Amino acid sequence: MITADDALQRLREGNEQFASGIGSAETFLRRVQRARTDFKQEPFAIIIGCSDSRVPVEIVFDQDLGDLFVIRVAGNIVSPSQLGSVEFAAAAFGTPLVVVLGHSNCGAVLGTLERLRRPAEARSPHMRFIAERIEPAVAGLLAPELGYDRETLIRKSVKANVRQSVAQLRKGSKILEELIEAGKLRVVGAEYSLATGRVEFLDDAVEAMRSRIA
Ligand SMILES: [Zn+2]
Repeated sequence: MITADDALQRLREGNEQFASGIGSAETFLRRVQRARTDFKQEPFAIIIGCSDSRVPVEIVFDQDLGDLFVIRVAGNIVSPSQLGSVEFAAAAFGTPLVVVLGHSNCGAVLGTLERLRRPAEARSPHMRFIAERIEPAVAGLLAPELGYDRETLIRKSVKANVRQSVAQLRKGSKILEELIEAGKLRVVGAEYSLATGRVEFLDDAVEAMRSRIA
């Protein structure tokens, strides 16, 4: 199995291919046909992405079948099903990298902000469950003294929601915590831009900033 650094690099390069229009997404269907029942999966990264139809994970990272273990849920939230899925993949395949992939203008995040501003009767306990997972990440950003305009608020909320999921993955599971401590697993956050097709890795940005300061 490759290292988390190499896995991250591969995602970075794949997304560059995709965003610059030289990716091989068009050959995806041919790859599907090539897959056999004995096709062994060796995913080098686990991705928790949003269900948004505009962010198909394999395509935006220009990866092949068997490369990514993908969990998609509205708002890329972390609840017990997601934790269980990540634990399974990390344990079964030794996958060294988990990426929480949020995206610009996420409908689940927008809906949660709306709900916080104008509390209404929840239409469904299931949709409420998702909003309640996102709320702690974004509620503080609505403080009037911050004075964020709508665009800034949405941008910061998407990032805050990704960071919250990253923190929940790092601290919400004994199995994952042990793998992280042993240096066998890395969890990072990322944001996909619907406008440019590019993925920004959030934690790396923080690291880069730290190294500039140091
Ligand atoms: Zn979304």
